[in-house]
Amino acid sequence: MAKLYEGKAKILYSTEDPEILLSVYKDDATAFNAQKKGTIKGKGEINCTVASALFQSLETNGIATHYIDCPTPNQMRVKAVKIIPVEVVVRNIAAGSLCRQTGLKEGTVLPCPLVEYYLKDDDLGDPLLTRDRLFLLDIVTEEQLSTIHKMALKINQHLQEFFNRCQITLVDFKLEFGFDSQQKIILADEISPDTCRLWDQTETDPQARVMDKDRFRKDLGQVESAYSKVQERVLAALNI
Ligand code: 5GP
Repeated sequence: MAKLYEGKAKILYSTEDPEILLSVYKDDATAFNAQKKGTIKGKGEINCTVASALFQSLETNGIATHYIDCPTPNQMRVKAVKIIPVEVVVRNIAAGSLCRQTGLKEGTVLPCPLVEYYLKDDDLGDPLLTRDRLFLLDIVTEEQLSTIHKMALKINQHLQEFFNRCQITLVDFKLEFGFDSQQKIILADEISPDTCRLWDQTETDPQARVMDKDRFRKDLGQVESAYSKVQERVLAALNI
């Protein structure tokens, strides 16, 4: 196996089959474009397990993903895709950069889900894109953007319902898509407490309810136990 790419949270290896890659989830955590670095013990296994459960649940609901299977708790075999260099963020409730950039109060329920596109480029700080900038940069065609937009909303609807069953509010999350060997657009990367904002519906305190990477970003403590709780509830909701 050759190492193809090492990201902040995962390492990607080739396998003997060129259409299959191995994604190894790490305990390393970064925030603010890697200015803050740390380790969240057990995160690799938790995120891989949560992502695997969510990908399988999405697949059964007709959303194509890169997921194949997990040979070990922190390893996922995935379909090789050409990643589209865009971070697709879907928001249901105002938080994070939406509040910073618009003045909206954190916790404001949005009238309908907001789909945003950010350029996946650490050197540029992942800037927010407009539709016209996406076309200007030749990242996607209008038709491809329409497919991604529809998939993002469908994924949001499914995940919102799913997390509600876990007594978790899906505030917002980030998705990445890629082209498979048939040039079909499929969901890639991961969906986990690293890439979502998840609020515990059994807690009212604005800090106590945080079950995601914001605990690490904002030094709220108890990061591992929050991630574990997400995993427990996700697996319980799927009867795993
Ligand atoms: P925001 O734009 O408010 O910082 O992030 C919106 C949502 O997308 C949050 O759930 C956040 O975790 C996720 N997100 C945005 N960019 C990234 C990224 O580069 N890495 C990770 N792990 N999550 C991201």
